[in-house]
Amino acid sequence: MNRLDHRDPLVFDTHELGRRPGALRKVSRTLEAPEGLGIIDVIGVPEKSELTLELRLESVVEGVLVTGVAETLVEGECVRCLEPVEFDLDVDFQELYYYPESDERHRARTAGTEDLDEDSEEETYRLEGDFFDLQPVLRDAVVLALPLQPVCQEDCLGLCSECGARLSDDPAHHHDAADPRWAALQGLSAAPGDEGDGTENSDTREGLAENQEK
Ligand SMILES: [Zn+2]
Ligand SMILES: [Zn+2]
Repeated sequence: MNRLDHRDPLVFDTHELGRRPGALRKVSRTLEAPEGLGIIDVIGVPEKSELTLELRLESVVEGVLVTGVAETLVEGECVRCLEPVEFDLDVDFQELYYYPESDERHRARTAGTEDLDEDSEEETYRLEGDFFDLQPVLRDAVVLALPLQPVCQEDCLGLCSECGARLSDDPAHHHDAADPRWAALQGLSAAPGDEGDGTENSDTREGLAENQEK
């Protein structure tokens, strides 16, 4: 059993909300972003950058419905030219945190379809006492809102495949095919295939095998 750390800024107390359905409470909190908010090595919220949360906690029959907006900064790298990419991210989320006892009833009710539930990706979140942990919900919402292929600009031209220059800085950039330096490099890279002893040998062997079969 991993108990929630009540000092964790992403852990919220619903005690003041009470459990009367319809009760409503708004909470604002500014904190340092935890690690892991994003897609590893692609794009994400830098750890300890400022993260602002506006939450609306609503007591419903089965638990507490949490609706919120997170505002933060995202940093990554353009997948085409590798330039840094940075922008503000606003992300909405909503999740129902079941009361601990309500969750048990929920499980009992769906016990007949247990196999289906185990296969489904949908996760059930639960209050621990009066507390809930926003971290997994926030992380999922942030990851879903992030581009899988971040680009510095929609029409980024990427990098020159020959010299690595950033093409958007110099759209006219090109290499003259007759340039002796590039011709020499192309000659070098083509050389091993041209010698081709291995290839000829295998052809010969195949030829022999065919002859033997006949
Ligand atoms: Zn780019
Ligand atoms: Zn180039």
